[in-house]
Amino acid sequence: DQVANQIAAGEVVERPASVVKELLENSLDAGATRIRLEIEAGGRKLIRIVDNGHGMGRDDALLAFERHATSKLRSSDDLLSIATLGFRGEALPSIASVARVSLETRAVEDEVGTMLEIAGGNLLRVEDAGLPAGTTIAVRDLFFNTPARRKFLRSEQTELGHVAALVTHYALAHPDKHFELHSSTQSLLVAPAVANAGERLYQIFGRETFESLIPVAAELDFSRAGLPEPPPWKRGEDYEAPEPGFIRLTGFVSKPELQKLNRNSIYVFVNGRLIRDRLILHAFTEAYRNIIPPTSYPVVLLFLEMPPQEVDVNVHPAKTEVRFRQGSFVHDFVRDAVRTAQMNARP
Ligand code: ADP
Ligand code: MG
Repeated sequence: DQVANQIAAGEVVERPASVVKELLENSLDAGATRIRLEIEAGGRKLIRIVDNGHGMGRDDALLAFERHATSKLRSSDDLLSIATLGFRGEALPSIASVARVSLETRAVEDEVGTMLEIAGGNLLRVEDAGLPAGTTIAVRDLFFNTPARRKFLRSEQTELGHVAALVTHYALAHPDKHFELHSSTQSLLVAPAVANAGERLYQIFGRETFESLIPVAAELDFSRAGLPEPPPWKRGEDYEAPEPGFIRLTGFVSKPELQKLNRNSIYVFVNGRLIRDRLILHAFTEAYRNIIPPTSYPVVLLFLEMPPQEVDVNVHPAKTEVRFRQGSFVHDFVRDAVRTAQMNARP
C-alpha cells in the first residue's frame, strides 16, 4: 500500500544519488553492458537511465512496481525495526511513490515493448510500444509529493557531486562495461569498456594518479580468523565458528607521495559492493601512519572478497555500512596487506 511504500521510500530514497544507486544496480543485475545516465537539476528534476540489459515483459514491468512484502509493516513498533527487514524488491515501488516515473522496456525475446507511467505510486498508463531491447527509466520531480523530504536536498551542485561519485564507483568496479553520465550542461563521465581495473583507473583519473599506484594482492585462509575459539563451556547460543574460505584483497593504493586532502578517492568494494566503513578506513589510517600526515589520505581502489556469511551488507539499505563478523581480523588483514604492498614497492 501507499503508506508502506512511502515509509520504505524514506529508508531507500534519501537523495538523487540513492535513486541512481538502485537504478544502476538493477541495470547491472539485468546484465547491461552499456549504461547511460542523464541528470537535470542535480537529479531533482530528472534522473534518466538507459541500459541494454535483458529488459522486461509487460507482466514483469507491472510487477516490478508492486511491493513484494506488502503486509510487513503493521504498527509503529515495526517502524523501529525497519532497518532489519529485507529491502529486496522495494526499490522501484519506493521510488515510484515519491516521484513521477516512466518506464520503457523490451525483453530481448519480445517483439513489442512496454511503456508505463506511475506518479506518486499511482499507475497512470500502460501501453505497448516499439522499443529497442533493454530498459529506460526516467524519474522526474523527486519528492514532489513529500515536501518535507524535498527540504533536505542540498544544492544542485552538491547532489550532482554525489551522483558523479557514485557512478564513478560503479565504473571502477565494472571496467568491462560502458558508463556515461551527462548533466544538462556537461558530460561528466564517458568511460568505454576496458580490459581491467588498472585501465579504468587511468581512464578516469589520468596518468599521474595511475603511475603512482601500487598493486595490492593478499589472501588468507579465513579459518585463521584472529579470535581463538572459546572453550566449549563458554560457548553461548550465538557462538559460531568462522566460515571456511578465503579473504582476499586486490587492487591498488597510492604511493605516499600522492596524497589527497579528503577521503573522496578511497573506493572499497566488499564482495562487489561499494562500502564506506569506519573499520576499513581505520585500517588505511594505520597502514599509512607515520608515512603520510594524519590530515591527508591515500588514493585507494580495493576489492575485498570473503565468505558471504562473514559480512552483513544489509545493515542499512541505502547507506553503505557493513558489519563484519570477525571485525578485528578483517581490519588487521587489510592493514597488513596495504603495508606489505607499500614495503614491496620501495626501491
Ligand atoms: P530488486 O532489485 O530487489 O528485485 P527492485 O525494486 O529494484 O527490486 O526491482 C524490481 C524488479 O524489477 C527487479 O527484480 C527486476 O526484475 C526488475 N527490473 C528493475 N530494473 C530493471 C532493469 N533495468 N532491467 C530489467 N529488469 C529490471
Ligand atoms: Mg533493485
